[in-house]
Amino acid sequence: MLQDVLHQIEQRDRFVLTSHARPDGDAIGSALACCQVLRAMGKQADVVLHDGVPRIYRTLPFADQVLQANRVGGNYDAAIILECDSIHRTRLEGLEDRFLISIDHHLSGRPFAHVNWIDPHAVATGEMVFRLAREAGAPFSPEIATCLYTALMTDTGSFMFQGTNEHTFALARELVLAGADPSHCARSIYFAHSVAKMRLLGEALRNLNTEAHIGWTWVTQEQMERCGAKEEDCEGLVNYVLSIGEVEVAALFRELPEGRFRVSLRSKGKLDVAKVAESFGGGGHECASGCSLEGPLPEAVRHVLESLRRGPSVQ
Ligand code: 5GP
Repeated sequence: MLQDVLHQIEQRDRFVLTSHARPDGDAIGSALACCQVLRAMGKQADVVLHDGVPRIYRTLPFADQVLQANRVGGNYDAAIILECDSIHRTRLEGLEDRFLISIDHHLSGRPFAHVNWIDPHAVATGEMVFRLAREAGAPFSPEIATCLYTALMTDTGSFMFQGTNEHTFALARELVLAGADPSHCARSIYFAHSVAKMRLLGEALRNLNTEAHIGWTWVTQEQMERCGAKEEDCEGLVNYVLSIGEVEVAALFRELPEGRFRVSLRSKGKLDVAKVAESFGGGGHECASGCSLEGPLPEAVRHVLESLRRGPSVQ
């Protein structure tokens, strides 16, 4: 697994790295860090993302070098795909015929690549990149530490989600010792929102519904346009629903331009939302998952609520 990945990297020179569309902190942080680790190993490496870097992650080291594209061209010896269960989730073309290495920490991770390192025990893909760097003996710069700390902080919900344990804090300690500044990383992410995002949060809170232990809300294209909000401004809105005391599972429905709905699901730990997302063709973790459904909105809500009421428990 890790050894396999390292072995394949050592035998090649030119790498393209990517992650899923609508990248989150772990996707961006682990791709940027992995790119730097490869460069420190003397390799040529580029990060290519379908959607580019969301505003709150643009202050990360080397974020300005990320290439935004619909297609991967160029003479790369291998593609390293982080945090994805398929090529499809990258939304990039031009990966199909390349040598593929997958590094993922999702329970729903699938072995789609030539080499697959899937570790659902890792709290973030960033943790796996940290292990890769250590195993490779690559010099560990404060910039790499900053990218990995951001990946760890965001994917653990600021060290609050289930699965956060003593190993998470041991890793955070290593990263801080290597030069990550926790308060700077937190400020860049959590105190850097746009006004449009706050307006959209207002809309989402106005649409809030609860039923027993289930909370849900939605944002429409019209609301997003009215607020001047972008797709990336929806990240984290679902957590406000989950922050209600009685709520055990929360859902955010976001209307897509073509009328379908993206659903973000979150759980406090008793209910397994990965199973719910998988039943609609999506995936993710027990406590954070996502999927897409056809509209109209009341139908999409009805389907998801039925599934949440049945409530698959965490094993
Ligand atoms: P979010 O709600 O933030 O979009 O996603 C939460 C988690 O679920 C993330 O770890 C994300 O990678 C995963 N996820 C979201 N949508 C999908 C999907 O359509 N397929 C899979 N496999 N995972 C998803």
